[in-house]
Amino acid sequence: MDTPAPPTLRDLPSVDLVVKTASGQLAIERFGRAPMIAAIRTALDEVRACLLAGQLASLPSPDHVALAAGTVLEHSARSSLRPVFNLTGTVLHTNLGRALLAQEAVEAATAAMRSAVALEFDLSTGTRGERDDHVRALLIELTGAEDATVVNNNAAAVLIVLNTLGLGREAIVSRGELIEIGGAFRMPDIMARAGVRLVEVGTTNRTHARDYEGAITPETGLVLKVHTSNYRIEGFTKEVGARDLAEIAHAKGVPLVNDLGSGTLVDLARIGLAHEPTVREAVAEGADLVTFSGDKLLGGPQTGFIVGSQDLIAQINRNPMKRALRVDKIRLAALEATLKLYRDPDRLAQRLPTLRLLARTRDELRALAERLAGPVGERLGSGFGVSVAECASQIGSGALPLETLPSAALAIRPVGIASGGALNALAAALRDLPLPIIGRISDGALRLDLRCLEDEAGFLDSLSHLVVSA
Ligand SMILES: *Cc1c(COP(=O)(O)O)cnc(C)c1O
Repeated sequence: MDTPAPPTLRDLPSVDLVVKTASGQLAIERFGRAPMIAAIRTALDEVRACLLAGQLASLPSPDHVALAAGTVLEHSARSSLRPVFNLTGTVLHTNLGRALLAQEAVEAATAAMRSAVALEFDLSTGTRGERDDHVRALLIELTGAEDATVVNNNAAAVLIVLNTLGLGREAIVSRGELIEIGGAFRMPDIMARAGVRLVEVGTTNRTHARDYEGAITPETGLVLKVHTSNYRIEGFTKEVGARDLAEIAHAKGVPLVNDLGSGTLVDLARIGLAHEPTVREAVAEGADLVTFSGDKLLGGPQTGFIVGSQDLIAQINRNPMKRALRVDKIRLAALEATLKLYRDPDRLAQRLPTLRLLARTRDELRALAERLAGPVGERLGSGFGVSVAECASQIGSGALPLETLPSAALAIRPVGIASGGALNALAAALRDLPLPIIGRISDGALRLDLRCLEDEAGFLDSLSHLVVSA
């Protein structure tokens, strides 16, 4: 009996042959001719290399090569910014994009993307308008401040405020409030870049009124109070409240700036959370400027707000930095729609996803977990056991850092003699789904906190594509 001759380079299908296969034609229709031809060349190069290394007993068919090339194109066509299921238990997860926008905001942003809009154009007079005008009145109404402006994010808000009030001068901050928040935002570094000299007062745990009083000089540009977003100093502590600090600063003719961080426009006690100072309260306490974020508790797009005295806001608007930090029409549209929802506080927790997710109760989430445990177990197969577990969600983004929300999770554990790597392999497979599922591994289980899961059907559908490699 003849043994078949080993394949040679001459037997390799031509690019042309691969292009003409059914799979080749299909891929060209989806991804275009040039990318497909390039992908076929790469695939054929790999076959050629294997052949030369003597690793191939037989050649792939032209259709096979076309399929392989098409799969590569399919992968690279997937957005790297694709939607995921955030089941980490952190509602405002910075690395997963923070707040989800309300339907109203999504529609406003989409409309703004599709057409020309009256961004800096006054429709009543036909003359130039102001970008900020779309949200200024709303912000004034919702915070009680005299005036307001919007920039790229709260880091930008702090930067431009420092630069406007303190360039070449001093800013006084308590040593207990020299925060670092994620993504390399460190207050001393921002100060330096803003051209402001930092004057630290007090100690880490205790700062007194006299510390501030003693530090204010003719060189002082501002006194800064910073919300210690992501930590608490507890025990033998003393801080000077914003109201007293405003009095101290004003007695010496110096403005007080209060960086609230997350900031909230509603009393979170309305949805059963601890009270977090509202922006309106911070304004009423006498701060001349208050800064806060758009995509933290407020539940809107990434933006930074500066609200406060008309005179200081006018100074900020004259700072050339403002142009570099401004917000585009898409976010402005989403922001306006988000802020308008705040006019009806009774329905806010239904319409604003961030508040809706934060307000979900343990009972509701446990019922959801019990509903899902069976179907999820089926999709994971016999290698894993799924149980319902209590857990605690976090708000995230530095809001109420010590406050957790009672929640329910699916706890997934390997069964039998599964290797120690089984959970990591499962977590990786879940991240590789068309709609990736992101959980958290702790105490020998992969935990999927269900607080942020609203699309049950989409979740189960995504899971049905699961392939766990051994
Ligand atoms: C989050 C935060 C910031 C930065 O806000 P971004 O909107 O993320 O830029 C600044 N200061 C404090 C106190 C914060 O908590």
